[in-house]
Amino acid sequence: MKSLDIGAPGDFVDHKAIDLLKPDELLYLRIPSLRTLSDELRSLVTKAASLSSKVVVSIPQEEVDDLLLVQGLFRLGVHGIAVRMTHRPERWLQQHGLGQIHSGDRDLIERFHQIRSSFPVDRFLTVEFQVQDDTRVLGATIMGVHQFGASWVVLNPLGSASSERFRQFRDVIEYLKIRGPTRLNVYFPFWKQEMPEWDLKTQNTFSGLEIVHIDISNRCSHSCVFCGLYGADSIDEMKKRSGGTLPEPLKNLMKMEIDAEKCLGIIKSLPWSVHMIQFGGIGDPLMHESAVDIIAAARRRGFAVEVLSNMEYLNDDDILLLHRLGTRNWYEFHFIANVSAGTPELYVKTRPRQSEKTFEKVVNNLRLFSDLRNKSSGAGAHTTIMCVVNRLNCLELLDVVKLAEKVGAWQVWFKPMEIHGEPHRSYVPGEDLMVAMARAYSDAIAYADGCGVNIFQRPICEEIIRKYSGASVHV
Ligand code: SF4
Repeated sequence: MKSLDIGAPGDFVDHKAIDLLKPDELLYLRIPSLRTLSDELRSLVTKAASLSSKVVVSIPQEEVDDLLLVQGLFRLGVHGIAVRMTHRPERWLQQHGLGQIHSGDRDLIERFHQIRSSFPVDRFLTVEFQVQDDTRVLGATIMGVHQFGASWVVLNPLGSASSERFRQFRDVIEYLKIRGPTRLNVYFPFWKQEMPEWDLKTQNTFSGLEIVHIDISNRCSHSCVFCGLYGADSIDEMKKRSGGTLPEPLKNLMKMEIDAEKCLGIIKSLPWSVHMIQFGGIGDPLMHESAVDIIAAARRRGFAVEVLSNMEYLNDDDILLLHRLGTRNWYEFHFIANVSAGTPELYVKTRPRQSEKTFEKVVNNLRLFSDLRNKSSGAGAHTTIMCVVNRLNCLELLDVVKLAEKVGAWQVWFKPMEIHGEPHRSYVPGEDLMVAMARAYSDAIAYADGCGVNIFQRPICEEIIRKYSGASVHV
């Protein structure tokens, strides 16, 4: 589960964060009141709910009984509600004594139970605890609402952070660890910058591992000019510095791969909170001879899988097997194909040690994935064509979208180039190219809209267009 943080209207509305939402990504939208939901926020919620199936709106407790209000919210497509409830154990403890400390704040737990009983069964319900100074029965209260179905809760410590408060909450987390709930996440405020500090200082292990990245192979036979390890210029430079040959430690690093059994063991042991495994790394994961088995094991455990590869190394049998592990939802299983060119000529220019034949192989592999998807009513492994935008390709972005259209790729990702070392600097698009590059972005996006290819991280492209041109933003 992943979260994006959006504040209340007039406070902070991060439109870009919404635009970049992934289908499975949690958006925690905290609003002051449903009754005063502005049109702007209403359309924001609708947009978010159309992009992600996990939009959770935090509302004040008093409003949850107003069925018309709540149903109106569900009609916008939201997945669930977090009810803001104040944790006030004094009354309960005064009435029943400290001996009841393990029963939690029964008033709050019973109120949650009552809300849950009349709540639509297909909607998610949780609590955002407003916690003042008294945290004595908070751990037990969390366990109480967890038993009534809240798989995650938010703890909002009111007042300022201090070492005393961290200590109090550390005790709460300790209490939960002893109780050992297996499927519970506890989040400090998503919308406050101090969230990581709270996690760290309270040793919160309930925040839940969500995305796991596994590097399975450092090997790669390509020579992308922008690659930190295999870039042709980088290799030449490293050889030059070491008297004509690559240094031994570097050669060893380039050969490193994970042991297949160990990797399968890791996949088997990942906790339930993980929803995605990314296979990528310094080299190309598909160079590993057990890559297909490893990916299949991850899919069979139900994880979404993302593979970053140059897409040369798969054969038709591999592709057929992988295709069968996909669904209609691109996010569940997709390959990010680092092609970074739309034509064979540009491909070999950006990969001086590859030939046009390699380009052809990559194109055929991508096309086979989409042919299989077409025969399966859209289900299968999806593909994204990644284009690392550099000086050599930055004016030919339209060709990349045309290639995506030709091979039936789901989307294109124009990824700004990262600089890994001195030899790379000469490949960064300079100021002299910016206006023309912005126009190339604009043309590429316009074409993509016309042919139905998605643009991943589109707001970043639009920012580049706005910043550098003359060129009009095609939206
Ligand atoms: S395909 Fe990836 S690992 Fe291989 S050279 Fe290109 S960027 Fe580097």
